[in-house]
Amino acid sequence: MYASSSSSEDITKGLWTVYNETKKKTEDSIPAICKNSVNPDTIFANNEMSLGDIEIYGFDYDYTLAFYSNQLHTLIFNIARDLLIAEHNYPEGLRDYEYVPDFAVRGLHYDVQKALLMKIDAFHYIQLGTVYRGLHPVPDEEVIAMYDGIHVPLENMSDFYGKSSHGHTLKQFMDIFSLPEMTLLSCVNDFFMRHNIDYEPVHLYKDVKAAIRDVHVKGIMYRAVEADIDRYICYGEQSHAVLKKLKEDGKKMFLITNSPLDFVDRGMNFIVGKAWRDLFDVVIVQADKPGFFNDRRKPFRRVTETGVLLWDRIHKLEKGQIYKQGNLYEFLRLTGWRGSKVLYFGDHIYSDLAVSGNKHTATHNNTESHTTTIITTQQHTITHNSSDNKTTVQQYTTTHNNTHTTTHTKKQNNTQQHTTTHNNRDNKTTTHITRQQHTTNTKTHDNTN
Ligand SMILES: [Mg+2]
Repeated sequence: MYASSSSSEDITKGLWTVYNETKKKTEDSIPAICKNSVNPDTIFANNEMSLGDIEIYGFDYDYTLAFYSNQLHTLIFNIARDLLIAEHNYPEGLRDYEYVPDFAVRGLHYDVQKALLMKIDAFHYIQLGTVYRGLHPVPDEEVIAMYDGIHVPLENMSDFYGKSSHGHTLKQFMDIFSLPEMTLLSCVNDFFMRHNIDYEPVHLYKDVKAAIRDVHVKGIMYRAVEADIDRYICYGEQSHAVLKKLKEDGKKMFLITNSPLDFVDRGMNFIVGKAWRDLFDVVIVQADKPGFFNDRRKPFRRVTETGVLLWDRIHKLEKGQIYKQGNLYEFLRLTGWRGSKVLYFGDHIYSDLAVSGNKHTATHNNTESHTTTIITTQQHTITHNSSDNKTTVQQYTTTHNNTHTTTHTKKQNNTQQHTTTHNNRDNKTTTHITRQQHTTNTKTHDNTN
């Protein structure tokens, strides 16, 4: 592009011009509905892999091909809040609470018995200043007194760190849909405390969880999104452009989503158009990830256009057909797609990874061999004490390829910084393989009350 006689200054200047022009073009292409939702500092570039080498591209649907506006969290919050009142006999006064955007971020822990929301780091230390009861912060001294310090024993941690032997004392919220759940929990706690109501926090937790689950399970959210799709889904042009480009380049593509067919169909019609299924060689809905990756017992099942489940045995995964459930082992066998030529894009650090759930440990001990490359858009940052007693922040990218390799960058830091907070909004995935980069900001709540 530049003559070799150009001075290095000219080259630098030229490169900056190209950079700024490209940046502006990118910014201009972001629809207004999504403006302010992408923080450029949270984008992580992966230089470890050449997309030219990838022949088969897989995609998750929610928050990967379909990017939702913040309206969705408000919708989930409102439906769940109203379900609590209508079906769990919660006080009518709860209706005064509105969803508070930015109140919570993904990755927080909730102490079910004590009704406290907080950030706990990878060493299981409570981050002082992040502990909230209802909608208000709890003073540090009180936290230290309650927990006898700030360290939470491993056996009190649940899910990701292994099942708690004392029951689910501390629940970590990892799912994108958990933002309205955490906010609702905090609002209901706030209501009961403000009205001096004697209540059992464990019941409250279970009821809120059930209400949030029903928003999905009963299809209420799906129907609401389908009815008003351009209010809830954005970024359609960009997903479409990526898929079209891959198709034109002769790449094979597949879709593996946990969402039901009609919901995905409605969204993909909006994003790509009626012919969206022509783009994909294999379409799998209601895959039940992360079980999909580990549980061999569930066979694929064909679903008709109208959602009828067929009972015939599946001998191959055909283009133009829709399959439900299945598992990774069958997928590999039926497609023959394996190895580093396959790349799967998802947004969830656990459910879109072949190593998932309880097996996924901070040390990435993985004894299973996986033949599919899995990429999530979440970057997993792990803090640990290095031998020199300094805190090292390792930013693991979640590239998994047979031997489960992890690449990381290191930076030295003398202080412990938060690590497992997952920001919620910017995890749009495209072939750019952009990832969430965890900030070292310890602020987890905006106290808007
Ligand atoms: Mg997803």
